This record gives sequence, C-alpha cells and structure tokens, in this order.
Amino acid sequence: MTWQGIWQATILTLFPEMFPGPLGLSLAGKGLREGKWALRTIDIRDFATDKHGSVDDTPAGGGAGMVMRADIAAASIDAARKDAPHDAPVIYPSPRGGPLTQAEAHRIAEGPGAILLCGRFEGVDQRVLEARNVKEISIGDYVLSGGELAAQVLIDACVRLLPGVTGNDTSLAEESFASGLLEYPHYTRPREWEGRAIPDILLSGDHEKIAGWRRAQAEALTKARRPDLWAKYRKS
Ligand code: SAH
Repeated sequence: MTWQGIWQATILTLFPEMFPGPLGLSLAGKGLREGKWALRTIDIRDFATDKHGSVDDTPAGGGAGMVMRADIAAASIDAARKDAPHDAPVIYPSPRGGPLTQAEAHRIAEGPGAILLCGRFEGVDQRVLEARNVKEISIGDYVLSGGELAAQVLIDACVRLLPGVTGNDTSLAEESFASGLLEYPHYTRPREWEGRAIPDILLSGDHEKIAGWRRAQAEALTKARRPDLWAKYRKS
C-alpha cells in the first residue's frame, strides 16, 4: 500500500456508495484527487456470515429496532486495521459521544487518519465499542438515521486543516472557533446593495482599525449567540 504519510480515512459502512459524496467536490475533492488525503470504504455487509448477508439482530432485553452485531462490526474494524496506519483511532459517530469541536478536528487531523464505523438502526453492540477501543464522537444534539453523514462532517472538518488543502492558512487562523470567538461578518462588492452600504471602516484602508472593528464584532456576536463560548473566552 502507498498510504504512508497520507492522512487516511477508512469508512466502515453499509452504504459505500454514499462516498466520497460531497467529499469528492470542492477543496476536499481537489485534495483527494491530488493525494493530499486518502479515502477508502469497506462494506460491512462483506463480513456477514449467513447467506442473507444480515449484519444486525434484535436488541437483547427487547425493544424497538435492530442492533449491529459485535462480531460483524469487529471483523470490519480488524480488516480496516490491516491497511490503515497502526495508530489511527477507531471512531464511532454517535449521539452519545463527546462533541465534535474544532479542537477535536485539529487533534484528529494531526494524527495519521481515522477509521470510522458508521452505525445504522439503533446502533452497534456495546461490546465491540469496548473490545476495539472505539471512541464515540457526536456531531450535535440530534439523531441522524446513520453515521455516514456524521462521518462526512467529521472528515470534512479534518481534511480542510491538512497542509495544502484549503490553500490559505490565514483564513484558517481567523475563522470561527480559531480564537475561541465566532467570526466577524464579511462583505464584498457591490459597495452598496439594496440601500445597504459596506461599513465605512472596511473601506478606510486603516488595517489596525479594521482589525479592532472585526474583533469587536466577533466579541459582540459571540456574546449574543453563544454565551457558553463567551464565558470560556473571558476565562482564558
Ligand atoms: N439509538 C441511538 C441512535 C441511533 S441513530 C441513540 O439513541 O443514541 C443511527 C446511527 O446514526 C448511529 O449509530 C450513529 O452512527 C449515527 N448518528 C445519529 N445521530 C448522530 C449524531 N448526532 N452524531 C453522530 N452520529 C450520529
């Protein structure tokens, strides 16, 4: 394999045709084609052991829905491990996980890549999460019908941080969360639109004043919209 040194995402899914999906377009897609990162999908159904290809079963203890079997999920993780960087974390996108934050995306992007186990139905047998040291990560406090969209969100957040993918390090340094604040508002031509003008200060050419204005805007926005981030920012 030629993965050496390239950030690599391995997706374990029942729907490999969902990939690369949006990750094949725009900056992430360009980076993928240029070999700045690599993507591999593994079909969990290939590890089914019966002739119907079943991967799930009814929950022990009763209740609604179906649960992905531990033996089958584990077989797919073990297969992924063979061709993945040895220290790539196994991540299970799950509403029960800790939140995906910009800091977490940085940590994952700085590593060798990730193996992502995409759940469906009610989720995955708990034993495989423990036995394979799987980390659960949530993309938000709502429930999706499968882990694939969450995996794509996580990969997109990581891949755009890789060297040479976004192509402009200052835009990464200034964006939301980089400084603990939400980003200031942006404007571009036309100078006046539907009676609304671009704030004069942005056209003044005074870089120091512009930076001050942007910071004040970022602070005001954060304070109004995200009191949780504002409190953290004030403390640090
Ligand atoms: N019964 C589970 C939800 C299962 S949703 C519960 O209540 O916690 C089916 C799959 O979608 C999950 O296995 C997970 O992989 C994915 N998923 C759903 N919501 C998610 C979220 N907010 N973040 C990350 N993955 C999610």
